[in-house]
Amino acid sequence: MADSVLSLQNLDVGFPGMTVVHDLNLDVADGAFVSLLGPSGSGKSTVLRTIAGLLPALGGRVALEGRDITTFPPERRNVGIVFQNYALFPTMTAFENIAFALRVAKKPKAEIEKRVHEVAAMARITDQLDKKPASMSGGQQQRVAIARALVTGSRVLLFDEPLSNLDAKVRASMRQEIKRLQTELGFTAIFVTHDQEDALTMSDVIVVLNHGKIEQIGDGRTLYRKPATPFICEFIGVSN
Ligand code: ADP
Ligand code: MG
Repeated sequence: MADSVLSLQNLDVGFPGMTVVHDLNLDVADGAFVSLLGPSGSGKSTVLRTIAGLLPALGGRVALEGRDITTFPPERRNVGIVFQNYALFPTMTAFENIAFALRVAKKPKAEIEKRVHEVAAMARITDQLDKKPASMSGGQQQRVAIARALVTGSRVLLFDEPLSNLDAKVRASMRQEIKRLQTELGFTAIFVTHDQEDALTMSDVIVVLNHGKIEQIGDGRTLYRKPATPFICEFIGVSN
């Protein structure tokens, strides 16, 4: 598809001797917010890790902006990833965490300073840059993790259950925060969650997974109005 930024074609993901999701086909439009929604163990993280290059594809293709990246190592894929537990380096300050990928890429110091301050301002954590993760709240750590994923200018951001460690109030405000950043920066989001409300409130497209099987792909309205399977009815909470 001409305007799709990320394309999964007949993608098989899993582990040696164990296919977790078979024959996944998905075209993600530039700037779209796509959720992978499903219960624990349905294969969401395995799909996300395969897109990120942290796991090799068992079959099929991953294409980014028309380029086959199926065998590219993670650092050459130009996708950012935000993990559930944030995966921040505990001994580093927020600044150092955000700067890490730029340091590895041996960017000049002045450029690193400028870029880190730029993304920190976007994520509204300029006043947190000298702190270490342990002295920050969950919501602030989440912002640092997002700033770190944005710093290299990736057009596609992958989120693996980024809100599940947050309490209900912070969770609701982080939903808005992620949507605000997405609207302002225009990145494409692939958002993994087991939470129906996350998916229904944030997404343009929802991919519902159950035990490695794709139950339905559609927008929230379609899932509500035309649930394709009994699982969707139960999981989304509609009667049919
Ligand atoms: P989700 O993110 O939806 O909770 P996962 O993608 O983590 O699901 O897991 C999907 C399936 O793959 C599960 O059956 C899980 O037990 C299995 N799995 C996850 N990680 C590994 C691994 N490192 N080795 C083998 N199987 C795994
Ligand atoms: Mg998972």
